[in-house]
Amino acid sequence: MEKQIKNYNIDDILEFKKLHPCGGKTWKVIRVGVDYKLECTTCKRIIIIPRIDLRKKVKRKIED
Ligand SMILES: [Zn+2]
Repeated sequence: MEKQIKNYNIDDILEFKKLHPCGGKTWKVIRVGVDYKLECTTCKRIIIIPRIDLRKKVKRKIED
């Protein structure tokens, strides 16, 4: 079930496997598509990641 391809939605909070240099590890989805736009929930820096790469980086989606 971990191999399942997941799609994420705007406002989802994703936990990455690696820490951001700021020490944060959770990111908020702010745009979806072929490229995903994510905002670090700790330092508010914005990154753009191709969806195919995002899957490798995400450890889990934070449920709220
Ligand atoms: Zn950060």
